[in-house]
Amino acid sequence: MREVLYYAPTELTEATAILADHRDKAAVLAGGTDLLPKLNYYEVKPHALLYIGRLGLSSIHNGSSALTIGATTTTADLATHHLVQQYAPALAQAARLSGSVAIQNAATIGGNIANASPAADLVVALLALDASVRLLSHSGQRDVHLADFFLGPHLTILQPDELITQIHVPLSPGKTEFLKLGRRKGQTLAVVSVAVRLQLDGDLCHDARIVLGSMAPTPLRCRTAEHLLRGQKITTDLIHQAATQAIAESSPITDQRATAWYRKKAGEALVQRALLQALDKKEVRP
Ligand SMILES: Cc1cc2nc3c(=O)[nH]c(=O)nc-3n(C[C@H](O)[C@H](O)[C@H](O)COP(=O)(O)OP(=O)(O)OC[C@H]3O[C@@H](n4cnc5c(N)ncnc54)[C@H](O)[C@@H]3O)c2cc1C
Repeated sequence: MREVLYYAPTELTEATAILADHRDKAAVLAGGTDLLPKLNYYEVKPHALLYIGRLGLSSIHNGSSALTIGATTTTADLATHHLVQQYAPALAQAARLSGSVAIQNAATIGGNIANASPAADLVVALLALDASVRLLSHSGQRDVHLADFFLGPHLTILQPDELITQIHVPLSPGKTEFLKLGRRKGQTLAVVSVAVRLQLDGDLCHDARIVLGSMAPTPLRCRTAEHLLRGQKITTDLIHQAATQAIAESSPITDQRATAWYRKKAGEALVQRALLQALDKKEVRP
């Protein structure tokens, strides 16, 4: 077996210098729950591993306009942190439904995003919350809306010398819901998942987000379905129309978890349920 260099820096400048040196020959290691199986099956063969768990990136703060979440914050911390529960309850819900307790204790938010699975639970919730990511390299940093981050399954705009350091979740009002359907009730990847956010004035919908997981090559914002709701009085009939439209925008595949046909049927019911349940949720007030 070939030797692999292992780095565990404590400074961001050191980490980005290592990435700049090794570029696509390096692999970033956070919780390892996605990366280690790939290493074990030789799907990736890096020359260097960059462990980022000592960079002080696991924290959650609220500023005047956004929650700032460090990239190595674990799924377990997201599920239980009072700021996430208060200002981004859909993200806390997604975290609670993601993997087992053991996985939640290791898995990080940055890893969920960078791995870019169409089924990534945290990403589905983050898209409904209009989140953005901060990317850092040796030559500078940039902020990117998560909606512009994904290019395809396990494919993103992240450059080989860039690290995700922070996730910003705007503090905005609204009622949210995250629901996930798997092949069993817990500890499983989504057959279909949905996150919704409704900004309401009485029964009038000012703005809406509908995001589907496992229904397209990347987690999918259903913009036409959102448009159907915007500016309209919310009725059960309109919710049914929006759910039908959301599924019309999806392009699920048949795989070992479900057929495309089943995903569409179940997905429509799940979107309807998420929208109806969101109406009964306590409003997030920044
Ligand atoms: C048994 C099992 C069950 C699972 N269940 C679920 C589930 O229900 N829902 C779900 O969404 N996921 C699930 N997962 C997938 C996985 O746990 C999550 O995607 C997790 O959030 C990945 O985070 P990590 O820290 O372990 O990433 P790692 O495995 O360390 O890294 C994943 C990828 O992201 C890159 N990376 C990590 N952090 C950064 C960063 N800060 N900057 C740049 N690149 C980075 C790595 O190089 C690697 O390519 C499951 C995995 C397993 C093994």
